[in-house]
Amino acid sequence: MIRVRFAPSPTGDLHVGGARTALFNWLYARKHGGTFILRIEDTDGARNTEEASAGILKGLKWLGLDWDEGPEKGGDYGPYYQSQRKHIYDAYLDKLTAMGRTYVEENGAVRFKFSRTAITVHDMVCGDVTFAPTEEPDMTLRRPDGSYIFHFVNVVDDIEMKMTHVFRGEDHLSNTWKHIDLFNAFGATPPTYAHIPLILNSDSSKMSKRDAGSAIEKSYMNGGFLADAVFNYLCLLGWTPRTEAEVLSRETLTSLFEPGEIHSSNARFDMQKCSWFNAQYLRALSPEALFAATRPFLDEAGLKITDEAVAAAAVYSVKEKVSLLTEIPAWVHYFFREDYPYEDEVVTKLKAKPENPALLEAAMKAFATLPDWTELAVHTAIEEAAKGAGVKPGALMPLLRFALSGQSRGPSVSTIAHLIGKESTVQRIQRTLAL
Ligand code: GLU
Repeated sequence: MIRVRFAPSPTGDLHVGGARTALFNWLYARKHGGTFILRIEDTDGARNTEEASAGILKGLKWLGLDWDEGPEKGGDYGPYYQSQRKHIYDAYLDKLTAMGRTYVEENGAVRFKFSRTAITVHDMVCGDVTFAPTEEPDMTLRRPDGSYIFHFVNVVDDIEMKMTHVFRGEDHLSNTWKHIDLFNAFGATPPTYAHIPLILNSDSSKMSKRDAGSAIEKSYMNGGFLADAVFNYLCLLGWTPRTEAEVLSRETLTSLFEPGEIHSSNARFDMQKCSWFNAQYLRALSPEALFAATRPFLDEAGLKITDEAVAAAAVYSVKEKVSLLTEIPAWVHYFFREDYPYEDEVVTKLKAKPENPALLEAAMKAFATLPDWTELAVHTAIEEAAKGAGVKPGALMPLLRFALSGQSRGPSVSTIAHLIGKESTVQRIQRTLAL
């Protein structure tokens, strides 16, 4: 039975690197019908905060990385916060002491006697990595103030929680021999490790918490991304599935996941590529789903939605124009207000030709007498008005778009007119003529 865990230290927001670590663990568990555990490594009272823990849970939930055991869920091997497991660490320390593998220093720190043998890590990503017998001083397990160090509690919990595999950041590889030395001392089999390469910025610098695109909540949840798109993009950051396609469902990614295919070189983060994925996912949503995902951003922009069906159709009509949900309000705001502003360029263009007002008036008249207000009827009326005025429909369309939206780009004019209704269409043309 496969058991894997994501073991974040709650020092800040869920970072893209952490999210990808969680994701690889999750994929492996789901692929093999195993168990995915969330363990919060919060033994550093000075740096760990409850707010950070909550943020991590929120980010994981948003990405759909549901855990089988852990905070809020419970499980047979809890508690899942290290700060609540001191009694377990005390018992494990006693075991080591009974085996003669520890000693107490004058200042009260308890140290572990390293075996000082060569240690090999069999890593699913990095292959076999052999560490020569160490010349480092023995490792402190418990500090004079009674708190335990990371390496000790990490190993004790991996033993206690019966972890079979560990996917974690490559930054931990250089210390893994310490972990294996501890596993060996306890007579426990170490888990199979997979150390995942780091994520670099596009300029090859190491990605830090302050870099653009690094924080799941700030950059993605609040930045107009869809969780499925981010999930898909993160999977491909350091792993290339054996398939031609890039846009892949969770199910496909799960079934294709092979730890041996994780790259051993660092991954490079590319915000443009991530946005491209988002655009693909956004365009594939149903009108209802797209509207539901966009709704918080419309509300945030202060747009008053009175008719949800119209609002959903308005949002759907601009889906090809955007990559992020945050871009949508600027494309649709005029569907929800009559006092929309006109782009400067629009006004200049309107006034550039003296025949423009007459063209707009011709269209307005054609609209006013239309018995049905369907997109097709609107479209036909525009064509006829253009014909009557002796111009091509292509000359009238942009003028109408300016009038109905104040913008030079947007969905088709008949879509806009149909959605805002006849009365508003006529009023908007009148308002524009009075400019
Ligand atoms: N708490 C460690 C970290 O956040 C986890 C190490 C591990 O996964 O073993 O880096």
